[in-house]
Amino acid sequence: MLLVKEIRLPLECGQAQAVDAALKRLHLTQGQIAGAEIYKISVDARRGRPVLVYTVAVELGQKGAERSFEGFAPSVSILNKQTFSIGTGSTVLEHPPVVCGLGPAGLFAALVLARQGFRPVVLERGPEMERRMKQVLGFYESGCLDENANIQFGEGGAGTFSDGKLTTRIHDPLCGFVMDTLLEHGAPREIAVRQKPHIGTDRLRDVIVSIRNEILSLGGQVFFDTALTGLCVKNGVLTGVRTSSGEIPCETLVLAVGHSARDTFEMLFETGLRPQAKPFSVGFRAEHLQSCIEESLYHEAAGHPALPRGEYQLSHHVGKRCVYTFCMCPGGQVVAAASEKDRVVTNGMSFHARDGKNANAAVVVSVSDADFGGDAREAIAFQRALETRAFQAGGGGYTAPAENVRSFLNGEGRLRITSVQPTYPRGVHAADLGALLPDELASALRTGLSAFERKLRGYTAPEAVLTGLETRTSSPVRLVRGENMESVDLPGLYPCGEGAGYAGGIVSAAVDGVRVARTIAEYYRPSRA
Ligand code: FAD
Repeated sequence: MLLVKEIRLPLECGQAQAVDAALKRLHLTQGQIAGAEIYKISVDARRGRPVLVYTVAVELGQKGAERSFEGFAPSVSILNKQTFSIGTGSTVLEHPPVVCGLGPAGLFAALVLARQGFRPVVLERGPEMERRMKQVLGFYESGCLDENANIQFGEGGAGTFSDGKLTTRIHDPLCGFVMDTLLEHGAPREIAVRQKPHIGTDRLRDVIVSIRNEILSLGGQVFFDTALTGLCVKNGVLTGVRTSSGEIPCETLVLAVGHSARDTFEMLFETGLRPQAKPFSVGFRAEHLQSCIEESLYHEAAGHPALPRGEYQLSHHVGKRCVYTFCMCPGGQVVAAASEKDRVVTNGMSFHARDGKNANAAVVVSVSDADFGGDAREAIAFQRALETRAFQAGGGGYTAPAENVRSFLNGEGRLRITSVQPTYPRGVHAADLGALLPDELASALRTGLSAFERKLRGYTAPEAVLTGLETRTSSPVRLVRGENMESVDLPGLYPCGEGAGYAGGIVSAAVDGVRVARTIAEYYRPSRA
């Protein structure tokens, strides 16, 4: 198959014209090919009126004829589709592997193990999807937080109430396996072709439940409302796990607990493991009108039906720190993402249609040892202190502190709500966000926000609102693993996903789950019992 790249067409042209343009470039007619389809679409809005940039996949009629197009490189390349295969291990596992956590990392690890015949036992501290959704909505209405069923915990993990963005900076061929699996389980077809694919929280939830059902159909077991509470270790080797419902013997444990499992990290410390601190970022959520963002990005073409909802990613270096936006949710809403009582944490999500009035994104600044001290407990304590301050500044009841961007730049603590209605579900309360952060961080964020205005006009417009604090940007800890992906502290333990410090985002966490499962499957073989 050939990939014909960089076909730049005006917004008014459709996909058929992109295919025609690809064939023209190859000097081929429809009669000479076996098929052609859109492989990727992106938008280039950097200069003047935006254009759509297509990559078209062309299947030639004659097998092996691709080589004769090598001279067309780099605008034409040969696509060799990667196939995913797993070897078979030899050491018999006496007990099924245990997978702890049903976020993307645990879900994909369990799926791959189940497909390899291992019948994994999955532990998830939170409830299954339907009950989890009720609990989250109940919290939004009542302000009663369930510490095991919230935006961080429960079936699907942290990204369930998300924008479901599937962009990742890792270039692992396993990303293709993850995308194909999501499609098999009902993700919208367009994720295969969009340069910046997203599923949306509504569609993602069904995909997760469908994958869980495949795990069950292959003999896996999933225990909801069941937390890992301890590890059984004999002669320096893992022999089982303690859970809130009793002990389970096992020789292998995939630990995919995400970045918010602070009690689990504490349990690891107490068991003698050595989680290490790692850098992360803190800040707040910015909200603007989606229409204003699109006017800045797309100019007079804003609102054209051929254009996707406008997205941005901004960054600015301030000394050794980086201030950047991430997890941008076009047409989305800010979520109340606390998992511990009397703490406020923000994050963002959107539905597949991305049709809300506001755009939101995290605006954060990097922090490291120098800010919180060198060890993992101190890193977590630093996060907690900020979350407690945010709770207090919001006035209680999980109301979040907020102020206008301009007010933050001037250190005024004022909130005047006009066209941008803050979407944080527990309501907002005017507060000086800068006073909640160490001075150096607040000052870096001010410099960064001012620089963003030069990159995206209107970023500091008077109506724009900041809501805080955003502290769960990535894991504050790393559980170091050796070459075979096992913990360097405990044979049999496989730290996995974001909580272990080896992923950041839905796709990279899922890929890490696949890699860990593949490592286990290529060393062990399931017992017959
Ligand atoms: P998690 O998804 O955190 O899953 C860990 C699971 O382990 C949880 O279900 C938890 O309940 C369970 N668990 C924890 N402790 C225990 C225990 N002791 N016993 C049993 N179970 C336990 N990323 C993107 O790529 N795109 C996005 O659009 C996006 N939006 C986001 C929006 C929000 C609101 C949030 C919170 C995150 C978002 N992210 C997004 C980040 C993404 O969700 C995470 O990077 C990803 O979910 C990490 O996957 P994971 O499996 O490693 O951990």
